[in-house]
Amino acid sequence: MKIGVLALQGAVSEHIRSLEAAGAQASPVKRVEELEELDGLVIPGGESTTIGKLMRKYGFIDAVRSFSGEGKPIFGTCAGLIVLAERIEGEEEAHLGLMDMTVSRNAFGRQRESFETDLDIKGIDEPVRAVFIRAPLINEVGPEVDVLSTYRDEIVTARQGNLLASSFHPELTDDYRLHAYFLEMAKEAAVARQK
Ligand code: GLN
Repeated sequence: MKIGVLALQGAVSEHIRSLEAAGAQASPVKRVEELEELDGLVIPGGESTTIGKLMRKYGFIDAVRSFSGEGKPIFGTCAGLIVLAERIEGEEEAHLGLMDMTVSRNAFGRQRESFETDLDIKGIDEPVRAVFIRAPLINEVGPEVDVLSTYRDEIVTARQGNLLASSFHPELTDDYRLHAYFLEMAKEAAVARQK
């Protein structure tokens, strides 16, 4: 599977390393044309306002929406989760607006701006080590969204069909299981496209 990592801003090389460890062929994506050959796309953590602005500037909003429309999987982590959301608390405009959920940016407050914990994630056997850095959380989800994990009753991982979102940074540990999960989504989508 060929998986791209949107490389406009944020934690790109770490995702590439994790995707490769999970068995994917991974590459940075800087131009919309590069989306064409991909089976899946990761939108990394960083700063969502900046990523959103750059996506608008370089034509990625429409291009990634049609990528998703073809059923190709997209995995948004941290800022990438915010970019996927239909609604951002306190902000008028969404970025991609693909996932039926409302998210809050920097939702864990000052004291817990950054922390690590072990999370139970639906579909993965043992708990996953999760690194949260000025992380967003998911306040509310629509009926199509499956909640995959919570931290202290707040939603931090969710899936809606071909879209996967995590509040934390799965690329900052040596645990590649969430990337492997995403790779499975890409494989299933590729099979479905062939039918
Ligand atoms: N706080 C950032 C934002 O709102 C996200 C932080 C991250 O990606 N680590 O965009």
